[in-house]
Amino acid sequence: MPGLDRLRIVGGAVHDPANGVDGEARDVCIEDGRIVASLPPGAPAVDARGMVVMPGGVDIHAHFASSSCNHARRLLPEEHGADPARAPALLEGEGPARSGTGGTVPTTFTTGYRYAGLGYTTAFDAAVAPLTARHTHAELDDTPLVDAGCFVLVGNDEYLHRQIAAGEQERARHYVAWLLGATGAYAVKIVNPGGIEAWKAGQRNLTDIDQALSGTTVTPRAILETLTNAANDLKLPHPVHIHGNNLGQAGNSTTTLATMQALAGRRAHFTHLQFHCYGGEAGKGWASAAAKVMEYVNAHPEHSVDVGQVMFGPATTLTADGPVEYLLYATSGRKWVNIDIELETGCGIVPYTYKEKAAVATLQWAVGLELFLLANDPWRVVLSTDHPNGGSFLSYPALIRLLMDRSARDEQLKRANPKLLAGSALADGLAREYSLNEIAIVTRAGPARLLGLAHKGHLGVGADADVTVYARDPDIARMFATPRYVVKGGQLVVQEGQLRRAPPGRRLHVRPEFDQRVLKDVRRHFDAYATVAFDNYAVRNVPGEPVAIGP
Ligand SMILES: [Zn+2]
Repeated sequence: MPGLDRLRIVGGAVHDPANGVDGEARDVCIEDGRIVASLPPGAPAVDARGMVVMPGGVDIHAHFASSSCNHARRLLPEEHGADPARAPALLEGEGPARSGTGGTVPTTFTTGYRYAGLGYTTAFDAAVAPLTARHTHAELDDTPLVDAGCFVLVGNDEYLHRQIAAGEQERARHYVAWLLGATGAYAVKIVNPGGIEAWKAGQRNLTDIDQALSGTTVTPRAILETLTNAANDLKLPHPVHIHGNNLGQAGNSTTTLATMQALAGRRAHFTHLQFHCYGGEAGKGWASAAAKVMEYVNAHPEHSVDVGQVMFGPATTLTADGPVEYLLYATSGRKWVNIDIELETGCGIVPYTYKEKAAVATLQWAVGLELFLLANDPWRVVLSTDHPNGGSFLSYPALIRLLMDRSARDEQLKRANPKLLAGSALADGLAREYSLNEIAIVTRAGPARLLGLAHKGHLGVGADADVTVYARDPDIARMFATPRYVVKGGQLVVQEGQLRRAPPGRRLHVRPEFDQRVLKDVRRHFDAYATVAFDNYAVRNVPGEPVAIGP
């Protein structure tokens, strides 16, 4: 039939773990943007014999399209000079081809080009303040090649705290449902529940999940329970996405385990777990608590995590967790940004370099790898560097090498600072090496499943035709850094290792139903306390239909 875009990817070793395919040589057939069972002879083809074929990569947690990212770009002109990104040599009419800058927080177009250049075709910005959601959608409009969405920050906003204090759990749920639709978001993100609001109000950070916000009965535990129940009761495709209290502090594994226990039996996702898995004690020293936390995660199938691996080299820490950034600024002496975002949340940014000769950075690096290597179920322990916090998404190929090649880990360990590694499982020797199928799970099939994206992360009939083809290379990092072919939505965007097309991606968002009566109350709150009129608040014209919710 004319008008249908067809492509046959011939004879590659297919790794499609969601469909039980582990390296078998077969064809992948594409028609009109979807995977199909077969194509007529003579359909256009690329030869993938001897190569490795996987679904397109899915990034469950990164920061690349937000007002915070834009502040980071402004803060880092030295990175722009060091990494100019020329416009790609696209085929005629397949643009726009835009120049930009790279570094740890690339500009919008460059972000899209570089994700696709790695074989990643879906990505989520993991922290968007409701008030700045419009900015995120404007940036996503200019980030080609990835189907993308965002998680909206909830958990430090005054309206929610008032509902919790009043025991209005149902109203809190309707509020969350409204907020997701009003901001065009995909999931609920909690950052340091209650702690940001406490710090903004001069109470200092909350360090225990049962510590109340000054003058209220609202605790991190109550915030976590309210939002976890709301997300699950609304049947959102992705459960609540949690960055817990005490990020980055020695001894914080106690808080992490208490948080997980508080939500035992309820579906929840714990993000950049590495930053929450330290033993020792504040002011007295650090140790790895990865084994203890992973023992818990292994035993709790209702919980999932992404790792937030630290990679040695430059990073930019960028989070709603203002108090953490204040501490990092104070100890590092680097320049920083802090912004309180009205009644909703905060934002802190500090550029940072993880040095292999630094003891804490080495511990963080080791803790991340321990989480990966001690995980029984790779479907629930997926890959992230919390880009750009633990390192750029461009370091994923180097991370994949560390997972697949024990000798690469041992080499790095020899160069690093072992001072805090006593009792570390990694230092004691972890022999595990990830297989290609396990890499396909932690980089695409697993995150797609955790995000509830039925058409992503696999190559079964009906799936979105997002496919990456890697030429085998003894250098694993080089293999994953330079795919030979990438197909996005049925279009061959990378050919012979070169980016040739840059179509726009789709927007991934939800619009849950809610009781409209909540709006009267929210409007009253806006009229009393907000700088923005309620009628001007919602993002208009979020492109595309919302992802279906249910059943
Ligand atoms: Zn993050």
